[in-house]
Formats: sequence, structure tokens, C-alpha cells
Amino acid sequence: MKKFPIGFNTKTNSGSAADMTVSANNKTTEPRKSVVRVYFPSRGMTLAYYNDRFDLKPGDFVYVDGKLEGKRGRVVDVNYSFKIRLSDYKRVIAVADTSVVGRFRIAGSHVVTFDPNAAPYKKALAWFKAPENDEVYAVGSDDGESFPLDDLSRMDVSPAIAERGHNYYAENKVSYISLDGTHGYAVVEGTEPYEVEFDFFDGGISNLTCSCFCSYNCKHEFAVMLQLREILDFITKNCGDEYCGYFAAMSKEVFVNIVMSKSGSGMINLEV
Ligand SMILES: [Zn+2]
Repeated sequence: MKKFPIGFNTKTNSGSAADMTVSANNKTTEPRKSVVRVYFPSRGMTLAYYNDRFDLKPGDFVYVDGKLEGKRGRVVDVNYSFKIRLSDYKRVIAVADTSVVGRFRIAGSHVVTFDPNAAPYKKALAWFKAPENDEVYAVGSDDGESFPLDDLSRMDVSPAIAERGHNYYAENKVSYISLDGTHGYAVVEGTEPYEVEFDFFDGGISNLTCSCFCSYNCKHEFAVMLQLREILDFITKNCGDEYCGYFAAMSKEVFVNIVMSKSGSGMINLEV
């Protein structure tokens, strides 16, 4: 049996074999005042913003204040030569760190890593939604009630919601999913990006929550269950020996459009 059916591989600067390096440019530079044009795919519009907090480059994913607050935008160009009335401009308030270094396996619609530092949830979350201010949440627990992942008919969900969840799954809207020990996180990109969390222990799922604030099991949660099942199935069949209780996976679309879209340097090595 080949150890790595399909994988990426690259070399780091130290010359040792690492696995995949994409946009590993992490050095911080002094922010330089700029006016940037930002494209918002969800709105199909490009607007100009003032920036004095970040060293921005075309291709960076940013969040702004103003009426497009919370929407992910992409820097189109950066202008350092300007004179503007500050009151006319909204600002860039956050930039997503899309640097990823690690080894990934291609697993159907997704790529999977077992390296906890490659694409951790906290970092990945900013690829989809703006960092939050001090929002306060109340989370209820279902007191250990659980259903088996391999029999979703026992998940308390209506057939209509299950069908919509299945469509989300089939359309690869589960953009990111990770399992860290027994706790799982996922981002589902529906009309908005939603965060789904769950516990997975001994084949059973419990404490499912979704940031769409449904008080019942929703289509986002159902889609995540299907994606989780597919990835665990892939791991079991192909690389069970590498799995030590942690994986992170992202859709190929996210991998290409977010991780690899940033200008920078890196290397990808495909192995068979
Ligand atoms: Zn939901």
C-alpha cells in the first residue's frame, strides 16, 4: 500500500522536507496609510476605504466598517498617493490571515490535514466572517443526548430540513470542518457564514449548536454531519494511521480561492 495516495509536498527554506507551503509570508511590516479599493463578491460591488492599520496588498481579504460591515471583501488595489476628507471614508478594520503551511491530502471535495498548526479553526474563521466584538452568547446543553453519526435518521430533524442540509453538503457549502479531540467546529456558507459546533465521542454526536440561532436542528448542522461522516470515512479507509484525534479540512474551493489566491510565495508538490 502506498503511504500517501495523493498529497502535497514542499520544501521549506531550511531545506527539510515539509509538506505544503502557501503564502508563508508572516513578517509584520509597518502599516502604511493607503486608500484601498475593495471588492465584495456577496454584493458584486467595489468600494474605496481608508486604511491606516494594516500593510495591505492586492488579494488580501479584509473587513470594513460602514454598511458592508461583516462582509468579506478582497483588496483590488492599494493607493498610497492621495488626499481625502477622512469623514468621507469608511475604514478597513480587520484583515484575515490566510497563510497556511502544512501537508494536505486530497479527500474528494475537500483537502484534509492532520497538522494542528496548518489551518486551525480560530484562524480559518476569519476567512469567512469578521472577528467579533465582545458578543455574548448563551449556549444550552442537551444533557448528553446524542445520536450516532452513522445513523442520521436518529437525528431529530425534519425531512425537509434534512433535504436542504443534504443539498448544502452536496454543493460543498461546508467550507471548513475540524475535529480537535472530541470537539468539532465547522463553517457552513449559506446565505451567511454560519458556525456549527458539536461534540463527537464514541461514534455519537451531542451538543450541536449553530450560529443561525435556530432552536432546533438546522440544515447547516445536518450538512456538517454529512461532511463529517464523509471525511471520517475517507480517513478510515485511506490514512487511519496518520490520524491522532485531530483533523482540519476545507473545501477545495476555499483552498484555491482563499488560501492560494493571495500573492506570495510557496510551493506545492503533488505526490501519487
Ligand atoms: Zn444553522
